[in-house]
Amino acid sequence: MLADTRQKASKLLVVQVIAGTNSCFVSQLIYYFQVHCLQKDLPKYLSHSSMATYESCPKKFEYAKIDKIPDPPGRAMLIGTFVHAILEDLMTNDSPGRTIDQVRTIARNRWDSWFIKNKDYIALGLDNSQAVAFRKEAWDSIEGYFAIEDPKTVQVLAVEKRVEVRFGEVSVLGFIDRLEARDDNTIVSDYKTGKVPHPNFKDGALAQPYLYAAMLEKLDTAISEYRILYLNSQTEITDKITRNNIESAEQRVHDTWGAITQDFENGNFKTKPSRLCDWCGYKQICPAWVSSR
Ligand code: SF4
Repeated sequence: MLADTRQKASKLLVVQVIAGTNSCFVSQLIYYFQVHCLQKDLPKYLSHSSMATYESCPKKFEYAKIDKIPDPPGRAMLIGTFVHAILEDLMTNDSPGRTIDQVRTIARNRWDSWFIKNKDYIALGLDNSQAVAFRKEAWDSIEGYFAIEDPKTVQVLAVEKRVEVRFGEVSVLGFIDRLEARDDNTIVSDYKTGKVPHPNFKDGALAQPYLYAAMLEKLDTAISEYRILYLNSQTEITDKITRNNIESAEQRVHDTWGAITQDFENGNFKTKPSRLCDWCGYKQICPAWVSSR
C-alpha cells in the first residue's frame, strides 16, 4: 500500500517537474504527498556532486537524493557526458592510437551505437539542425582537448576509475576521469566542458580533486598533483595536492554528512534561493517559489 502510494506520488512529482506546471494548488498537494506518503531514507553514499548539491541548496539535495525525484540532465550536461565518453575511449587506446583521426571515428561510433539512443538525449527533442549544433559543440570540446595536450604523451593509469571509500559513518563514491603518471608522481585529472570558474569560485572547483585525492589516499594511492582541463576554453588548472587539501576534503565529508543527517532527523532541509534556482529542475515545487506566487 505504502509502496503503491509512494509510486503514485513519485509519478505526480515527476509529471509536475516535467510539465513545469505553476499551479500553486497542485504544488501544495504534491508537496503534501511528498512529506506524508513517501518513505524517506538517507542516501547510501555521498559523492562530490551530491555534496555540492547540498552545499548549494539543502532542499534541492532532499528532492534529488532523498525523495529521488528525477531531474533529467539538460543539454549542457549531456554534451559533457558525450565528450567524457569519447575521451574515455580515446585514452584507453594505446598511445600511438590517440590521434585526431581516431577520435573522429570514436565520436561517430559512440554517437551511432549509444548516444543517439540515450533516453535523456531523445527527451531533449532536438530537430536536425539542433542535433548538428549539439554534435558541433561536443566536437569543439574535443578539439579544445587536443589544444591543451597531445594525448599520445599521457601515461594513463586508469580512466573512469570507480572509487568507493568509507569516511567514518558514510561512504563516498566517485568516478575519476583519469589517473596518470608523470615521473614518480600520480596525478588525478578531470575534464570539464563548462566555463573556467571566476577566481572567487575556484575553491568550489578544487573540492573535487581534493576529495578524490583523499579517497585514493585511503586506498594507499598517494596523489601529488591535480589537473583540471577546461576543454572549451583550452585552459588547464593544475597544482600540487597538499596535506591541508586532503584534510579539508575529509572535513568536508564529515561536516556535510553531519548536516545532512541532522536535517533528515529534523525533517528540515532548508531552501537556499539563489541565481541557481533558474536552472533548478525543482523550482515548480519548491516552497521558496511556490509560496511566493
Ligand atoms: S528552486 Fe532554488 S531554493 Fe528551491 S530547491 Fe531549487 S535551488 Fe533550492
